[in-house]
Amino acid sequence: MIRQILILLAAVCALAGPSFAQTPAQGLSALAQLDPARSKISQGGGQTDIAIGISQPVPYRAFLLADPYRLVVDFREVNFTGHDPKALLGHASTVTDLRWGAFRPGWSRMVAELSRPMVLVSAEERSGDNPQIRLALRSVPAADFKAEKGAADSALWGLPQPAEVTAPHRRQDGSRPLKVVLDPGHGGIDPGAEDAGLHEADIVLSFARQLRDKMRRAGMTVVMTRDQDVFVPLETRVTVARAAGADLFISLHADSIAEGWASGAAIYRLGDHAEDEATRKLVARHDRDDILAGVDLDGQGDEIAKILIGMARRETQPRSVRLAQVLAGAIKSDGLRMHKRPVQGANFSVLKSPDIPSVLIELGFLSSQSDRKRLQDPDWRARMAEAITKGVLSWAQSDAAEAKLLRQ
Ligand SMILES: [Zn+2]
Repeated sequence: MIRQILILLAAVCALAGPSFAQTPAQGLSALAQLDPARSKISQGGGQTDIAIGISQPVPYRAFLLADPYRLVVDFREVNFTGHDPKALLGHASTVTDLRWGAFRPGWSRMVAELSRPMVLVSAEERSGDNPQIRLALRSVPAADFKAEKGAADSALWGLPQPAEVTAPHRRQDGSRPLKVVLDPGHGGIDPGAEDAGLHEADIVLSFARQLRDKMRRAGMTVVMTRDQDVFVPLETRVTVARAAGADLFISLHADSIAEGWASGAAIYRLGDHAEDEATRKLVARHDRDDILAGVDLDGQGDEIAKILIGMARRETQPRSVRLAQVLAGAIKSDGLRMHKRPVQGANFSVLKSPDIPSVLIELGFLSSQSDRKRLQDPDWRARMAEAITKGVLSWAQSDAAEAKLLRQ
């Protein structure tokens, strides 16, 4: 019965999202650069004008999405590095926020949040000496707004189709190398938390690489959901783990918490709701970053799928809880600083794999000065990677023993 469920689950999840593949990045020589001096957002004559100055013309497309209302522009790779999108804000009340950055290898994205429903009245690209993409928007009543359904569709990105997601393999019993999926949070257009010039996306990526190397030396097989500064939707991160046939999934973060005080590592496993207000906000912010970056989550899903997922999760959930506890124990016993509540439940989207034990580790909080120092300390990082590796090995041992017991 369980096996049937898992195969059905594979089909359900295959429908839910694309698998992810890395295509080679474009040659740097051809990279277009943003020219902030020729970029501007302005308002007048009943319309909002957005001009993006670039060093050379690039293929692009623009479309609108709702919830929240926003304009998305995808460009063949443009280098936005070092330019703060917020600098263009303040001249049009209709554009309330702006972000840009890498989206997929070879592609960049800009997202302008709009205060009201709008339509594109014109879109043109000027070539010549001063290449520029110029977009004009006009307000419309909400009833006339047309979001481009499917505009964020994976097919446009040339990604492999979900058919490549296979059924999960058998629960690990110690007879083969453990397969770990490491998920460095955020990336590309979504830098994650920012504090004192540090970006969460960069910190967790370099830590993940270090941890991957350590785990490989310990005999594990490791797959990363991203190994460069690109955006990966939350749903795709889960799909990567399924496609890889992962035995466990570890998401790595170093967020900021504005409210209250947070310091030290914390481990989250799936819970129905966040256990405190700060965590609830953290969960909401991760989902919001994902949506703003341009992914439209339908959130629908038929009832049968929900029931099947619930059944598989009942078996997986205690394994996730134990993984969180063993990891917390390993980190604590190494004398590394833990949060005052080291293990917590929260409904992070990346923890929702129904049949893969999953945890999210906040290595520390960028909002804490002492955590920031630790996160940059090579010695601390090496000890943390070592503690996590030890914890995973010890969990895998008891988990394998339990699997054998269940089969008898
Ligand atoms: Zn994060």
